[in-house]
Amino acid sequence: MARIPFKNQNGVDFTSFSSEIREKIDAGFRRAADEKTKVATSKMTGKLADIVGISTNPLINGHCEKMQSKSGAICQKCYSIRLLLTARKNAITAWTSNTVLLSDENLSPSKLPTIPSGSMVRFNPHGELQNDAMMSNFIKIADLNPNSKFVLFTKRYDILRRFKDQIPSNLAVVASAYYIDKPMEAFPDGADTIFNVVTDEYVESTGIRPNCALKCNSCLKCWQKGKKQVIVEHLK
Ligand code: SF4
Repeated sequence: MARIPFKNQNGVDFTSFSSEIREKIDAGFRRAADEKTKVATSKMTGKLADIVGISTNPLINGHCEKMQSKSGAICQKCYSIRLLLTARKNAITAWTSNTVLLSDENLSPSKLPTIPSGSMVRFNPHGELQNDAMMSNFIKIADLNPNSKFVLFTKRYDILRRFKDQIPSNLAVVASAYYIDKPMEAFPDGADTIFNVVTDEYVESTGIRPNCALKCNSCLKCWQKGKKQVIVEHLK
């Protein structure tokens, strides 16, 4: 099989990664090219215990790469990238395959994931929207599974704006703030909830209290539609 070039359409330079990481990314591209491969789901743990997750790979996302160079951006503390470069290297292949499949505007319906009825699902618990096709495929997945509820966290307000009139009633959208200690005030078009991240120092100086329960399966606030909620979480 021909070697897959270490560049993607967003210009991420994969050559900066170790050979071990590059090989796992390479394997993800090969996995996605296999006609039997579907978008992978996972049972989440920790704060997201029992939630179904559909993750993508932030290491090959040009928007994630760009945000990591911005001073004060939450992306500079990206938990998912830390995990992928250390304890969860084995997830790189599946999340890369998901990125490739979900970024395809002509993705075959046979490659969409099987979601058990009644599931609570989070799109991109790890990863970020790659392009319009990914948003469109998430909408398709929600449309095909009307008995399950979905939430998408995103900082791609530009993509959200283009899809704001197509978001189904079982898909809530949470707009995450770009910067630590700089809470968003305006709701981006298409967002149901704003999600801000603050430090201890910010809490002490402003008196604003974090209201994220840190246990999604019993809280489920972020899956609610149309309430214009503001959630505040402590920086992890
Ligand atoms: S507010 Fe609730 S549902 Fe939203 S992230 Fe926090 S624990 Fe999860």
